[in-house]
Amino acid sequence: MTPADHDRYSRQILFPGIGEPGQERLLRSRVAVVGCGALGSFQAGALARAGVGRLVLVDRDYVELSNLQRQWLYEEADVEAGLPKAVAASRRISHINSSITAEPVVADLTAANIEDALGKVDLILDGADNFEVRYLVNDFALSTDTPWVYGAAVGSYGLTFPVVPGETPCLKCLYPEPPSGVQPTCETAGVVNSITSLIASLQVAWAFRILVKTEPLSPRLTMVDIWTGAMRQLELPKRDQECPACVKRDFRHLRGEGRAPVSSCGRNAVQIHERARPLPLADLKARLEPLGAVKANEFALRFFVPPYEMTIFPDGRAIIKGTEDVAVARSLYARYVGA
Ligand SMILES: [Zn+2]
Repeated sequence: MTPADHDRYSRQILFPGIGEPGQERLLRSRVAVVGCGALGSFQAGALARAGVGRLVLVDRDYVELSNLQRQWLYEEADVEAGLPKAVAASRRISHINSSITAEPVVADLTAANIEDALGKVDLILDGADNFEVRYLVNDFALSTDTPWVYGAAVGSYGLTFPVVPGETPCLKCLYPEPPSGVQPTCETAGVVNSITSLIASLQVAWAFRILVKTEPLSPRLTMVDIWTGAMRQLELPKRDQECPACVKRDFRHLRGEGRAPVSSCGRNAVQIHERARPLPLADLKARLEPLGAVKANEFALRFFVPPYEMTIFPDGRAIIKGTEDVAVARSLYARYVGA
């Protein structure tokens, strides 16, 4: 550790749970943040400030005005520039701590790209907003023996627990299937910004404890309602001896099974990701400009066809806002981008 590192992280080194050996471990660690929204942007900032040496920041979306209420790393200029969250987060982190590296991955995490996107990491923090990605992360983490920390928050309520392969139950043990029925989302039920930062803080604390390895974990599930003040902790149950993922090691999500090629993003938007193919955005911009307002940068192109708004990425993926109807989204994609 350099004298500058010693000074920078001195308050953390003084804390007995971390100490100098723990700080050395953090500096050598590589951590992935999956989803850089309210949870992930807070996690990324906290990890960077704590000196976690290498961060992989994965997000498929761009920064919007309605994100700024709770997504701590972003500012108005990022909205104005139409920056992808992963890029905006990495830039901000380079100003917070230039001695660590943050690698942005602008992508929808899938079975096909998760290994390339995450590579060899020591730990994964969940900042995702859907079960599909969490099951994929769970399979990937188990198959590579990588710990990860689940986190979710909506309204004023949140939940977190760590998954340590071989030690704790996994996500499939606790939730064999995604919750059924219509689930509240931040877009439909709103969210208080202090619940997301609280859950993200708890996740980061688990990450530190797992990475520094100075004491036994005693993993727990924590539930908090920030509005009523109710907090509850439970011992994690035993692993499900029939669990297809952590016991039988049948990683169906990692094989890409059961994944919809088109999905609702839960906020009056549909994502089309089946047509993975490179799209030259400059050509597309020239083609679309006569048809409506176009805003483009090197990372994404936004095309406004009221009441719809299409955001198209260089890998061919698109998010169509203004509808939850998959057929409408497909037709807009076919009409303006091409089938
Ligand atoms: Zn399991």
